[in-house]
Amino acid sequence: MRPIKSRLSSLGSAWLRGYGEDPIHLACPSALRWLSKSPFLSTNKRLRLASTLRLLRSPSTPPFPEEQSLYESVLEKVSSNEKALQGLFLIALTRKEQECCKDLAQRLTVAHPKSVWGWEALGWVYSSEGDWAKAEEAYRSGLELNPENSRLLTGLSLVLDHGGKSAESTEALNRIPQGSFEALVAKFLKGTSSGLLPAYLSEAGDCLNSIFDRVNLEKDAILPDAPPTPCPVCGSQSVRPVHWIESLNKSVGYCEACDLYQVNPQPEVGFEERYFVEDYLGGTYRKIADWVRTSAGSSDEKYGPHRSLLEWLESSPSIRLDDHPMGRALDVGCASGAMVTILNRRGWQTIGVEPSTGLFNLAVGIGLDLRNSNLSAQQFETNRFDLITCLHVLSHARDPHLLLDEIARIQKPGGILILATPVAACLRHFLEGANHFHQPEHLFFFTAKNICSFLTDRGYEVIDFRTPEDPIHEFAETRQGKLPWHPLLVKRMTDWKAGSFLEVAAKKG
Ligand SMILES: [Zn+2]
Repeated sequence: MRPIKSRLSSLGSAWLRGYGEDPIHLACPSALRWLSKSPFLSTNKRLRLASTLRLLRSPSTPPFPEEQSLYESVLEKVSSNEKALQGLFLIALTRKEQECCKDLAQRLTVAHPKSVWGWEALGWVYSSEGDWAKAEEAYRSGLELNPENSRLLTGLSLVLDHGGKSAESTEALNRIPQGSFEALVAKFLKGTSSGLLPAYLSEAGDCLNSIFDRVNLEKDAILPDAPPTPCPVCGSQSVRPVHWIESLNKSVGYCEACDLYQVNPQPEVGFEERYFVEDYLGGTYRKIADWVRTSAGSSDEKYGPHRSLLEWLESSPSIRLDDHPMGRALDVGCASGAMVTILNRRGWQTIGVEPSTGLFNLAVGIGLDLRNSNLSAQQFETNRFDLITCLHVLSHARDPHLLLDEIARIQKPGGILILATPVAACLRHFLEGANHFHQPEHLFFFTAKNICSFLTDRGYEVIDFRTPEDPIHEFAETRQGKLPWHPLLVKRMTDWKAGSFLEVAAKKG
């Protein structure tokens, strides 16, 4: 038998190779805890092990003893390693561990005072707590050592603007070098402060599009050799490429007739089975399935993972979902069944359809009427449903207009449709260009403007819409080692309905 050090070392190497790539290690926290007792682990491996154990437990449960002792034993040793501290900060941020975030941001500014990252993180933490004086102090301290840094200037200007110091805020914005990402943010902020963006649905799309024109959206588009594909929704030939997505080797076409953005070429038939598996979005739907099975009778039962959406549907004066008689409800693309469960527990007669077998399998056995099927294959009778929800489905559908046709056909007059979808022509698109389209499972991007007209064309009246905060993008930023957008920028984006997720409530006429 090989010596114990050699065996532990092989196990440690295998684990590190799989870290972040292979979910196998996630299945065995007990093995990791056992490994953590090895006296032979390097500081780096101890740190990664502590981080993994941290990620394995839910934020509401206390740390594993091994995790805490590993974490404390390595924290001092890694203070000279800025990347390690940043990584720990982002993990804590994702888990909303506020005190841990503050501690790590302060460590970063002490150990690496000339680096921007720590000051920006500290400003972010104080801003998220609403401690504007301390946030301002953090940005100003960072700027003393990095006088022209765009990110610190953006943070400072947001905080000053929020505190009513508008002249000082503008002065900070004017110091941002032109052409940077932050200069675009500054342009947006000036636009919102001067009332350039109206809060009305019919005009929002136009205004955002005019902003695109001003920054010359086409500048980073590469025209592909392939002939233009006609728009699948309206049939127009006027589809022009506006972006090239480097990571996907695809272009984004924009239909001038109906405002639809489409990814070209579209993925091969059957790609859905590869993407919509049980671990889609890092196991999010698995966790939701767990909620469905365990939440009955708990204080969490009423809302679950759709809390934000449902609170809005209840409180919006023009929707007031609870005031509608609870008849037949359908969730199109029900995944692991959370929305069907919530509506069912409230008294609706529910059905859910989910074409992806991978996601549907998560819901097996929850005892509700869920069907592993495309919507059209169900051939529901005309005017059947009082309430239809279709959450984050439209952008994945190969024929989104046919899906909308079918939804309109089976919706009862007077009934309510709730749609949620990521959109283009939003602030994030404006700031990030092609990168806004980098997720390969999104085939089409609608806009606030065209969703409204597509619904009107099908006999609906849009009664309210909003763009809520965007946790998935926040998650994506932290995965790339970046701080998420400043809390005040996210708030302004939400207030101005310029966010990248659109939620719409429409009434069938
Ligand atoms: Zn079109």
